[in-house]
Amino acid sequence: MDCIFCKIVNGEIKSAKVYEDEDVLCIKDINPQAPVHILIIPKKHIAKLYQTDEITLLGKMLKIGCDIAEKEGIKESGYRIVINTNRNAGQSVDHIHFHLLGGRILMWPPG
Ligand code: AMP
Ligand code: ZN
Repeated sequence: MDCIFCKIVNGEIKSAKVYEDEDVLCIKDINPQAPVHILIIPKKHIAKLYQTDEITLLGKMLKIGCDIAEKEGIKESGYRIVINTNRNAGQSVDHIHFHLLGGRILMWPPG
């Protein structure tokens, strides 16, 4: 399948790996929007957030995001975990992923 994140998961495309287990891969975003910008990606191809009911996997991804935030030293200062879905939100890769952002003050509401 012509999916950039599937290619990263199977090693066809190189990435800066932060965490990996049997279900999830976490990498540094190639175009970071904050000092810490990590993508939490399920190994299984799921194009859109609303196309899955795998709440155990989604919950695990959230927990991993929190654990990485702690390891990156941004737990106390604060961080944001976001999921862009479809055009208005700016989803550019159709393989779901959580963005973990932190290390600076994040504006609210987001742009
Ligand atoms: P989104 O726009 O929410 O779909 O997020 C896709 C993210 O993937 C963007 O922040 C991109 O910078 C990031 N991205 C695209 N290609 C790569 C890559 N090869 N390695 C790491 N991050 C990537
Ligand atoms: Zn994929």
